[in-house]
Amino acid sequence: MKTRPSAHRAKSPRTAVKSTAARRTTQQSSRSGKYAAIRRDLQQQRRAILEEAGEGLTNQKGQETFPDVSDQASAEADQNFSMRIRERERRLLKKIDEALDRMDKNLYGICERCEEEIPFPRLKARPVTTLCINCKTLQEQEEKIRR
Ligand SMILES: [Zn+2]
Repeated sequence: MKTRPSAHRAKSPRTAVKSTAARRTTQQSSRSGKYAAIRRDLQQQRRAILEEAGEGLTNQKGQETFPDVSDQASAEADQNFSMRIRERERRLLKKIDEALDRMDKNLYGICERCEEEIPFPRLKARPVTTLCINCKTLQEQEEKIRR
């Protein structure tokens, strides 16, 4: 009588296949993976803005008629305020979309003025930026002179 190796002990081939697959995934994502966390942040911010915009529209419908004049006035003030907010959000939304677009084209994180790579901490702090800190400072100085 001879003992044969137990069938459920031969697991090593499957483990080998799995680790190869895992390695391939890491390789594929390593190029875009550099900004994966920032991309997630941007997408989250984008969703939040859109959700809030949706809520704003619902509120607006309830503000159509006011029997009291002072209520009407404050409602208009509220509306002006929310319109200003919306304008700012719309602009931010555009910047977020552009940043995500640059990620897709592998252009993200490159200063559009000097074409140097923007340092990661700056991108993390201000993900929608298209300028490195030097060029941003220069641009701000130029704007001051123009005014
Ligand atoms: Zn620059």
